[in-house]
Amino acid sequence: MTKSKTKNKLKILFVASEVVPFAKTGGLADVAGALPQALKAMGHDVRIVMPKYKSINHDMKTIVDFPVAIDDLNATAIIRESVIKCSMCEKDANVPIYFVDNHWYFYRSRLYAYEDEAERFGFFCRAILEMLPLIKFKPDIIHCNDWQSGPIPVLLKDQYRNTNPFYQGISTVFTIHNLQYQGSFPKECLNLLRLSQEYFSIDKLEFYGEVNYMKAGLMYADIINTVSKTYAKEIQTSEYGERMEGILQKRAEDIYGIVNGIHFGEADPATDDRIVKNYSAKDFTGKKLNKYALQEEMSLPKKDVPVIGLISRLASQKGFDIIAGIIDELLNLDIQFVILGSGEAVYEDMFKRAKEKYPDKVGLYLGFNANLAQHIYAGSDMFLMPSRFEPCGLGQLFALRYGSIPVVRSTGGLADTIVNFNEEEQKGNGFAFTEYSSQALRETIFRALDVYNQKPKEWNKLVKRALEEDFSWPKSAEEYVKLYKIAISKSKE
Ligand code: ADP
Repeated sequence: MTKSKTKNKLKILFVASEVVPFAKTGGLADVAGALPQALKAMGHDVRIVMPKYKSINHDMKTIVDFPVAIDDLNATAIIRESVIKCSMCEKDANVPIYFVDNHWYFYRSRLYAYEDEAERFGFFCRAILEMLPLIKFKPDIIHCNDWQSGPIPVLLKDQYRNTNPFYQGISTVFTIHNLQYQGSFPKECLNLLRLSQEYFSIDKLEFYGEVNYMKAGLMYADIINTVSKTYAKEIQTSEYGERMEGILQKRAEDIYGIVNGIHFGEADPATDDRIVKNYSAKDFTGKKLNKYALQEEMSLPKKDVPVIGLISRLASQKGFDIIAGIIDELLNLDIQFVILGSGEAVYEDMFKRAKEKYPDKVGLYLGFNANLAQHIYAGSDMFLMPSRFEPCGLGQLFALRYGSIPVVRSTGGLADTIVNFNEEEQKGNGFAFTEYSSQALRETIFRALDVYNQKPKEWNKLVKRALEEDFSWPKSAEEYVKLYKIAISKSKE
């Protein structure tokens, strides 16, 4: 590599609490497993760090251990290292991934939702900063993601930089993947972070009487971004701001939106060996065989009715209350509805009842199942995402990739990626509505079914357009590099 080429290459530490293929509960893990590969493919020195959870059994080597001060105790962090093979890179290359290991904090059955979250992730953040000089990696950028890494910017700026010049010249980007989950804890957790009571104030970490890790990231990171331009604007309003809108409005100049990509190499209907018949935009007749296979797998009658797919965390964010308002009417039509999800009992019950009442029309799997997800993307005709809010949404991107037409509420990333079908202009890649109501959802599903049933030629053109969309990572990764450069120049100001 020539000198001028290496000069523009950045050193990036990507911090995430979950990373595919090691641990996943939501979209953050997909992003954390893929964006670093796209950055690596551009030549940057990018490395990832995450906790070593009990469920992770991959080969890794131990590289260093050290004590981390947490409250008035010392807890041992063991740093282990593995790699993610860079399947987006032209030549053989790996993205290094570090694991912060501590038996007490991370060897538990779930990833999150414990009483001592403040301590677990406070430890995680401090261990990461302590690790850097020991592994001799001084990043230009620490890219923090969601509340679990929120304290890093404040610790870096107000603690570590004051005591060790190594930490000078490191900039921070904080990405909001979902503002609803904030990590809000009792005041005492300031001690865990070894921050003085001075930080319990409105211009620092205090938030409605608690210490808030998300707010720490929002207040102290050089640059903030979220995973779509529309969500970046929405979160500055009281409707979507989760009470953070005031803080975000004050930082409006530093907030950006970059829509996520998906890993096109790993999610490709032309080569995917998890589906029964491969297909592409050139010839997607094979999609039908995937539909029949899905019907068989879900014990539904094999027939040519429109199949609507839904793959989601069963959480109120995803619009299940407006589905509830029309589910009976929907299931009285000649359709099939295939649902894969897990989460809140009220929605699990709703779908269980629907399955009992309409056994020939509802296919239901409650739980997490990555293979079935692929079968649904490939085998369904439409993909339902009527979210109340949606920072980016990956479901609709996978659906497009597999030619299942998204039916969505136009919010956040759904608004930025799904263009409403327009027959006259021969445009659009899905069906979208704005008002959050069962009525608007009903009208939109009916519109989609109408095109499917009455205008098969138009429908096929729509599927072709969906299959030709490019929501792959390289485009978004380029935008991230621009953002990193803005953060670097900003932290020099
Ligand atoms: P969120 O991050 O809010 O959960 P996204 O749409 O951004 O929603 O990402 C969800 C990802 O998780 C998608 O890749 C989707 O296919 C996958 N997913 C969600 N629920 C399940 C499930 N029960 N089984 C398999 N995959 C799932």
